[in-house]
Amino acid sequence: MDPREQTIFALSSGRPPTAIAIVRVSGAQAGTIVDALSGERPPPRRATFARLRDPQGEAIDDAVVLWFPGPASATGEDVAEFHVHGGRAVLAALFAALAHFKDVRPAEPGEFTRRAFENGKIDLTEAEGLDDLIHADTDRQRRQALRQLHGLLGDKARHWRQQIIDAAALVEAGIDFADEGDVPEQLLAPALAKVAKLKDEIEQALAASARSERLRDGLVVAIVGAPNVGKSTLMNALVRREVAIVSPHAGTTRDVIEVQLDLDGYPVTLIDTAGIRDTSDPVEQEGVRRAKARAGDADLVLWLTETDSVAEHDGLDLPRDVPCWLVRNKLDLTPVSAAEQEAGNLAAGRKLFDGGIRAGVAEPARCFAISAARGDGMPELIGALQSFAGQYFAVGESGLVARTRHRELLRTAADLLHRSIEARELGEELVAEELRGAAVALGRLLGRVDVEDLLDVIFRDFCIGK
Ligand code: GDP
Repeated sequence: MDPREQTIFALSSGRPPTAIAIVRVSGAQAGTIVDALSGERPPPRRATFARLRDPQGEAIDDAVVLWFPGPASATGEDVAEFHVHGGRAVLAALFAALAHFKDVRPAEPGEFTRRAFENGKIDLTEAEGLDDLIHADTDRQRRQALRQLHGLLGDKARHWRQQIIDAAALVEAGIDFADEGDVPEQLLAPALAKVAKLKDEIEQALAASARSERLRDGLVVAIVGAPNVGKSTLMNALVRREVAIVSPHAGTTRDVIEVQLDLDGYPVTLIDTAGIRDTSDPVEQEGVRRAKARAGDADLVLWLTETDSVAEHDGLDLPRDVPCWLVRNKLDLTPVSAAEQEAGNLAAGRKLFDGGIRAGVAEPARCFAISAARGDGMPELIGALQSFAGQYFAVGESGLVARTRHRELLRTAADLLHRSIEARELGEELVAEELRGAAVALGRLLGRVDVEDLLDVIFRDFCIGK
């Protein structure tokens, strides 16, 4: 039997042991399985208590059973859910019983969602939204994923696609019926006017896209600086738990350490880079190389220093458009007051910094004075990070486009619409051709045309049981 027609099952809840575990079954055999394991079929969509028994009549567990006859189910097929006690032995016994049935097998990752997609329950953008929702770490990511799951982008794309098809039909009707081979102006002009309007709408969606893509990926903040200035300590202070090794010996943080932060609902990846300095130790050299590369990719760099140490470390090649903040640490060690520190040494450091290392950068560095160990200045730094993240993600909440795949296909559609307008002088056939291309791009976005290989890529990233 074609594996796609087999009945699948998987644990859809968390890793055992858990209080309750949910095992889902989808496919033609689901009904037979429910009948056999629970003795009788419960009424559709009603939580029903049953004692599950394996094919030999041995009790497996007491369970709540749900029966969703297709097509009104999550996958469009017959679906059953068994809510059992989440012990490993219970699950092993249940899986063994399930595998006993003919044409029944464990599900591949994402296979339930893939079936929902293939049975027309959801489009591809909604499937991706579902995946994003499962992997959302922060509240804002959750909201964005939920909007996509609710079909915000899918509905727009369907609407655009239909209008393009309508416009193409108008143009093609003109080609077919025009006496002289010329499409009558009264057909072409309104069709192209509609196309121009659509193109603008898609362009607008694209313009707002960069930030919603970022919201999915998160903001990357790199902490860089010479060994021993307190990068790990700062990282720990920011995360408020021990993630990076804090050590009095220079050069112990040899690799790039990353942690995820939820900063006011915004996803932030914090990177603690290895001590950036000249070294002959090959392991450490590799750390330095990675640190530089990662810092170069960051969206914000926190350059950590001790007094006036900035000038010594000019080896870091930061792209000129990455904002960089100068953070002077160990404020507690200096016997003068914080205010004096800021006015004196910090100003000196900043002068060196802007005048030397970062010469030619449009935006001067922002400066902070902190004690990562004692906490001085930390509220100010965290506050600044929060507002930086807020600005960075500013319009993300209204963005439709969360993935590169979406952006590229919308870009293609908008370009082809543009070309269809330009093609007016060259003949109506060409106009129609470009319009068809644009409709195909939007069809791909929704998963309607030749996306077989793409599907494998997208669904492979899903969890098993989803
Ligand atoms: P890294 O090499 O830049 O990651 O530096 P670490 O975070 O490992 O810190 C190096 C040393 O400086 C450790 O002994 C820390 O305890 C110490 N240190 C870090 N921040 C401060 C601070 O604000 N004040 C003081 N007095 N010591 C600090």
